Amino acid sequence: MLKHNVSPKLGSWSINFKTGETIWSNEVYTILKLDKSQTTPSLELYLSSSCDSEKDELRKIISSLKHSENRYNIIRKRCLSANEHRFVREEGEVQRDENGKITHALGTIRDITEAVHTREKLEQAAVVFEHTSDAVLITDKEHRIIAVNNAFCSITGYSENESLGKDAGFTKSGQHKHSFYRDMTLSLDQEGNWQGEIWDRRKDGEIYPKWLSINSVYNDRGNLLYYVGVFSDISHIKSTEDKLRHLALHDSLTGLPNRLSFNEHLDRVIKHADRNRLNSAVLFLDLDRFKTINDSLGHPVGDALLIEVATRLKACLRNEDTIARLGGDEFTIIMEDILIPEDAAKVAEKIIRSLSAPVEIDDHQFYATTSIGISLYPKDGTNVTELVKNADAAMYRAKESGRNCYEFYSSELATTAVARLELEGELRKAIDNKEFILHYQPQFNLKTEEITGAEALIRWTHPDRGLIYPDEFIPLAEETGLINQIGEIALRKACQQLKLWHSKGWMIPKISVNVAGQQIHNGQFLPLIKETLSIANIHPSSIEIELTETTLMHNTEETIKALSQLKSMGVTISIDDFGTGYSSLSYLKTLPIQRIKIDRSFVQDTPSDTNDIAITRAIIALSSALDLDVIAEGVETQEQLQFLMSENCIQAQGYLFSKPLPAKQLFEKYEHVAHQPSDYSSPAEHSLWATSSPPHLN
Ligand code: C2E
Ligand code: CA
Ligand code: CA
Repeated sequence: MLKHNVSPKLGSWSINFKTGETIWSNEVYTILKLDKSQTTPSLELYLSSSCDSEKDELRKIISSLKHSENRYNIIRKRCLSANEHRFVREEGEVQRDENGKITHALGTIRDITEAVHTREKLEQAAVVFEHTSDAVLITDKEHRIIAVNNAFCSITGYSENESLGKDAGFTKSGQHKHSFYRDMTLSLDQEGNWQGEIWDRRKDGEIYPKWLSINSVYNDRGNLLYYVGVFSDISHIKSTEDKLRHLALHDSLTGLPNRLSFNEHLDRVIKHADRNRLNSAVLFLDLDRFKTINDSLGHPVGDALLIEVATRLKACLRNEDTIARLGGDEFTIIMEDILIPEDAAKVAEKIIRSLSAPVEIDDHQFYATTSIGISLYPKDGTNVTELVKNADAAMYRAKESGRNCYEFYSSELATTAVARLELEGELRKAIDNKEFILHYQPQFNLKTEEITGAEALIRWTHPDRGLIYPDEFIPLAEETGLINQIGEIALRKACQQLKLWHSKGWMIPKISVNVAGQQIHNGQFLPLIKETLSIANIHPSSIEIELTETTLMHNTEETIKALSQLKSMGVTISIDDFGTGYSSLSYLKTLPIQRIKIDRSFVQDTPSDTNDIAITRAIIALSSALDLDVIAEGVETQEQLQFLMSENCIQAQGYLFSKPLPAKQLFEKYEHVAHQPSDYSSPAEHSLWATSSPPHLN
């Protein structure tokens, strides 16, 4: 037996007006929801249960049937109860006798509620389909478009006619790889849907991003019928997103990528270089003395300078190189795929050259030099942190070696860093353990051969390593600030020594003490000198302080004030290593100095090197013009001596006369020299050094 629980949809009825017999098929009862056992079928009952809205129409039909019409066909909404109704299609026919009087009537009633509801839904769907702001397209299973809505047409620019029948991919932009579409098809086959961002091309050629979701639609038997795609144009979202992303990843002043974006990019570059066995370089730049410009000329000028620097940097690079501003006056550059380290060096040189052209901002003209550190992938590091840290370290080394230059990082640098840390610790201990001593190098008047003084030079008597010379520890002491304590030790020792010699009756005229820039700049120097001199009870004129030319160039008003006070007390101030800096004549005149020491490097190559001869001559002439004493240091040969004397430089020190000696040895060797200036008669006879091999060298 056929089992169906679907409610019947079609019923039939008939009326014999002659006999009054009314017959309803079972379905009529069911459709009208009447209980057959308790119902007597009748025309009135059949006509009842109409909803109010249709009663008028029903009346019209009945009256037309009474007169001329033989057929009717209407859809009625039957109200079965207060809240239940059904849509039915009713068709009927009447038969008449020869007088036109109705004798029989018969008809059908069909329940079409579901169909009406479906149609309503479809109508609603059609309204939505046409009016939604999302584009909708429906394709058959071969991806041929069978329907598109208004939004589709306005977003893509293609009309309905232009779209129907086309393959759904006809708006492809060519931005995606073949694999992208293959994955989409796979997901539709396996999951029945796909969604994601996709770039398409509008009819006018513009490429735009859209958010697309596609669903596969199956029938009851699971057969694929069609695909429905819904998408929206997300170009405005994208552009806001892009703007936000740009803001998050760029420096607002220069428009260059910022640290975050730099790190991300460097990470990608490293991965790429790793896969393809390429070399890359990271350049770390820091403008020299930017803070001074910013502080003295103001931030707007500083900002303008940074923008100018960014522009010049960009002009120095290849397209594939990336430049970023990490903040402040720090910039970084990534050079992808370089063949040899020299490639990076060349760019560094180019940058230094480019920045060396003067910058003009608001009537100010100045120079923006930079120090550059370079680290190389993979030699100096294999990740972002290492490469940046090492480029930074190399940059510091460039600063140390005089700025406006570049340095490569090398792993030796890291080893040095550890060694320096150890050395710093040992230096601190050396101060506590009083491991410093002074050696003294005598200075002479070349004409009279008298000893005019001695330069105190510090040495470190290391418990394990023995005697360590200052070149090995003074730079670190200056960097760590320990020079303040070490310098004080040297000054006190020198004064005590002088006092001791004086008490022994050896009246050596002067002791020169080397003083580092920091000692002067910290403001404590004047009181220290006063205290030390008074403890040792020696006259200020017995003391000379040697300041390097570079120290004097970086002075402040306070420094000059302190030096002037020292000078007025009677302390001699001399410029050490003269000629290595770039002091101008007019500048020298403003300083309270009495003596210039010609740097050893110039003396060394006289009288063979014409350049050094010229410099030495110029320094001597300069000193005489400024009424300053001049002394040559590092005199090693007779030729140098003769040259200096012929140029009228009458003071000197150097290995030719004596190496720096411990205090006791100096005393024993020269006690008689300064003591007997009056004995001096013929320099040639008593000459201390006028022999082919200097007698005091050993
Ligand atoms: P400096 O002031 O230029 O000292 C002269 C250096 O040249 C000394 O080296 C000395 O030994 C060396 N010298 C002297 N005559 C000759 C020569 O004929 N030929 C050669 N080749 N060299 C000669 P030293 O003692 O190693 O000192 C090196 C530097 O250390 C000094 O250069 C000075 O800048 C610094 N220094 C030494 N003692 C002190 C100190 O107590 N305080 C400070 N701040 N620096 C000091
Ligand atoms: Ca010196
Ligand atoms: Ca010197």
